[in-house]
Amino acid sequence: EFDILIVGGGPAGAAAAIYAARKGLRTGIVAERFGGQVMDTLAIENFISVKETEGPKLVAGLEEHVKAYDVDIMNHQRAVRLDVPAEAGKTAKVALANGAELSAKAVILATGARWRELGVPGEKEYRGRGVAYCPHCDGPLFKGKKVAVIGGGNSGVEAAIDLAGIVEHVTLIEFADALRADAVLQRKLRSLPNVTIVTNAQTTEILGDGAKVNALRYRDRATGEEHTVELAGVFVQIGLVPNTDWLEGAVARNRFGEIEIDARCTTSAPGVFAAGDCTTVPYKQIIIAMGEGAKAALSAFDYLIRLAPA
Ligand code: FAD
Repeated sequence: EFDILIVGGGPAGAAAAIYAARKGLRTGIVAERFGGQVMDTLAIENFISVKETEGPKLVAGLEEHVKAYDVDIMNHQRAVRLDVPAEAGKTAKVALANGAELSAKAVILATGARWRELGVPGEKEYRGRGVAYCPHCDGPLFKGKKVAVIGGGNSGVEAAIDLAGIVEHVTLIEFADALRADAVLQRKLRSLPNVTIVTNAQTTEILGDGAKVNALRYRDRATGEEHTVELAGVFVQIGLVPNTDWLEGAVARNRFGEIEIDARCTTSAPGVFAAGDCTTVPYKQIIIAMGEGAKAALSAFDYLIRLAPA
């Protein structure tokens, strides 16, 4: 039995593992893919104290750091069910896709999230070469250039406002016939001189020169007419989906599927903590996920030292 079992091996899970192991706790990590979203990231310029790095390089550093401690890493293993303890002090159980079942006194959920993709030609081919999902991460790469933001919800409109301050011009493309963002954001967006808003538009293709993105094609859903916009970047903002389907019935989640946590990363279940992109924590970033992972481990430690001696 583990003292702390962590599900997820991204920045949140890795930070939690290091903090837990440093308390002398018997610690395990189950991860479908160690490194998580960071493995898919090219340039990282906002991991504070490291001016510039690349995803796989940062993941190698995470792995080396975790391996410096006595942590049982179970990579390429997917958790499919969590049985939460009936009360504090009882054992939690995590079932894996391979049929194994792990038990632990405390569990930290750090299964992250994935960006919803458009699913149009060019999107996968040019991912990281003009197709981006995170304005905080990649916005500055498009300084002085033309970009589009796909999605007129809060995150799309926020991204467009953010990018308008950095890039030359932003085209915001929304599938429905109206933006869905809060009125105050829409007012702000409409006040900006270098933003064009296109509604009722279906993005059909992202075009490039083989090396990087140079245009986007959309269909006017009212007239059926095809339009091409020349640009250097496309920010897809149609939703971030937390990897929490497997937790159905185990812990409380909000309407987006994010695990509800408080300031100490506790969830609705005793002995179950959560950290990073899979939770309600605002702003999904590496540095934030790491801080949350550390917090979750310290909270789990506080929980464990308060349990009655066995
Ligand atoms: P994740 O990194 O998503 O890790 C989740 C972990 O859980 C993975 O190991 C996964 O395999 C595992 N997992 C999921 N489900 C299960 C399951 N059922 N069983 C077992 N394991 C499971 N942020 C920045 O700060 N700067 C950037 O420049 C930046 N660029 C980005 C570029 C791209 C293309 C993407 C996609 C994201 C980028 N981000 C960036 C965001 C950043 O990667 C995330 O905020 C961060 O990785 C979240 O960490 P996490 O540990 O919460 O989750």
